[in-house]
Amino acid sequence: MSTLHRPRKRFGQNFLIDQNVVNHIIAAAELSLSDHVLEIGPGQGALTHKMLPLVQRLDLIEIDRDLAQQFTDNGDEKLHVHVGDALKIDWNQILNQTDYKLVANLPYNISSQVLFKMITHRQLISRMILMFQKEVGDRLRAQPGSKEYGSLTVLCQLWFDISRVTLVPPSAFKPPPKVMSEVLRFDRRETPRVEVDDDGFFRRVVKASFAQRRKTLRNCLCAAGFSAEVVDITAEDAQLDMKRRGETLSITEFAHLAKQLQIVEQRYLTN
Ligand code: SAM
Repeated sequence: MSTLHRPRKRFGQNFLIDQNVVNHIIAAAELSLSDHVLEIGPGQGALTHKMLPLVQRLDLIEIDRDLAQQFTDNGDEKLHVHVGDALKIDWNQILNQTDYKLVANLPYNISSQVLFKMITHRQLISRMILMFQKEVGDRLRAQPGSKEYGSLTVLCQLWFDISRVTLVPPSAFKPPPKVMSEVLRFDRRETPRVEVDDDGFFRRVVKASFAQRRKTLRNCLCAAGFSAEVVDITAEDAQLDMKRRGETLSITEFAHLAKQLQIVEQRYLTN
């Protein structure tokens, strides 16, 4: 059936045809027969068929019913096929232990949303090998002060050590995409890069700080609903220059900012 399938653009179907890249991805996952693996978007099975003999359990989420059918028909009891949208499916129903590995050649249009979802489920995922558009890969590995540094960088680097597995040219896919791609490996850290008291609040502050890149921290935080008074008191308490831009703050500085902002806001709201 794979030779008859016409790639569907709306599902970001660029199938891997370069076996070297496939082997690189699988080697980076360091699979073993006790592993439970989740693959998002198995497509025609370039990664799936090679991973299956190496693991204990392989869960697949595929949105394209036609492509999912070949895996449903496969009958291998290690394979668990979930037909649907990876962004909508409840991952808690699938990830049944705390050391899942996630391997995926992601469709580019959902990669950021998948990352936010995986951050939410990080207790269940110990390693991820993911393919991105190179531009997104650059953002994920970026350092403070660079134009690539953003909220996704901070949130991912807080919980995961991120390294490049390989760069992938368009010719590795059929049909070829217009841009270079990059495979990244994410290893969950034993402890976050810096202690964060309230995960949700930290995320809110980080997202707000990058929401308008040309604006100062003060303006970004006020635009996100923090009162000017709270922001100004926090600046003093935390000894943080709110004229700085979000992209100049390190992860440690974000944690410090979020902690102080929350303390001041709670004090302000109860008075
Ligand atoms: N893994 C295959 C490979 O490497 O050749 C296919 C990769 S292709 C870039 C992306 C795959 O993700 C396609 O099979 C597509 O149908 C599937 N897909 C797209 N959007 C999805 C979604 N929201 N949830 C689950 N699968 C999705």
